[in-house]
Amino acid sequence: MAQHFLLSAASRSLSLRKIYKAGEEAAYKTFCEMRWPETDGEAVCPRCGCCETYGITTRRKFKCKACHHQFSVTSGTIFASRKMDFVDQLAAICIIVNASKGVSMVQLSRDLDCQYKTAFVLAHKLREAMAQEVHTGEVLDGHVEIDGAYFDGHIRPENRKEDRKDRRLKENQTGQRRVVIVMRERKGRTLPFVSKQEPEGVELAKENIDRMASISADEASHWDLLHAAWPMERINHSVAYSVDGACTNQAESDFSRLRRMVMGQHHHVSPQYLCTPTTPHGWKTTAAFRTANRPARSSPTPWARRLAGTGKGIGSGRRDAERTENKRPIDSRPALT
Ligand SMILES: [Zn+2]
Repeated sequence: MAQHFLLSAASRSLSLRKIYKAGEEAAYKTFCEMRWPETDGEAVCPRCGCCETYGITTRRKFKCKACHHQFSVTSGTIFASRKMDFVDQLAAICIIVNASKGVSMVQLSRDLDCQYKTAFVLAHKLREAMAQEVHTGEVLDGHVEIDGAYFDGHIRPENRKEDRKDRRLKENQTGQRRVVIVMRERKGRTLPFVSKQEPEGVELAKENIDRMASISADEASHWDLLHAAWPMERINHSVAYSVDGACTNQAESDFSRLRRMVMGQHHHVSPQYLCTPTTPHGWKTTAAFRTANRPARSSPTPWARRLAGTGKGIGSGRRDAERTENKRPIDSRPALT
């Protein structure tokens, strides 16, 4: 039987032990390499793009020879105006991206020895950066599994039996229940969305799946509408979970981890914030597949390290070049609800 990817050495690409053993200077150098991968960590002016700079080593700043603009490695990124050391910032990235079922902010604040609010803001910045990498506007291709799972909407029963209501009736429900719709390429990217009803996934599929792809879905009748546009593979879960390779098990695996994340780490997620754990989860799934399928001779730099290079103000030519094919206009990108 093949070894699970998470048990392999390739999955351990970013280690907390190595980060703290290497120290602050090495962490700073890593940030420079992440920010300016095209020049191997040599500073590039964010204002005019000039590669010739003076280094102000005592303040860890740079001054552009062309426009005299002063900047640092974090200028214009999610880490701008930071107070934490670089080694702690790198450790925060490591803890968050390695936690496949998420991590609570109280736990992160204890690990980093910082205030709860500091950990909370830092984690949200990292989640925002991950969301930018997930919803790029690039459509899914190959074989795509689509499915939905309902989250939240739990009604706590009253203390006394005589006060309790029938929670199955619509008038007694909170209206807070949301569905997470996942579209997942087999051995590829994962796109998660949050909606009120699972049938909304049909429109999302039209926007986010390539016309040459094929789709797997379960027996829910709203997926019948997809037969007109794609070769479909259906699996009736009341009969079997997998028949002759037809299944939606990859999508179900996402839901399984998401449920454990909500139950074990967040305990409760308000419907308007359900995309907060969902989108980074899609990023981690995609990152795991890309790391697993990285060519043996490619750069050992972990895919996760690119996270620190994302955020406002950084237009990475390399990232833009990767998205040339199947790119839709940015305005048609589906909004997270
Ligand atoms: Zn400049």
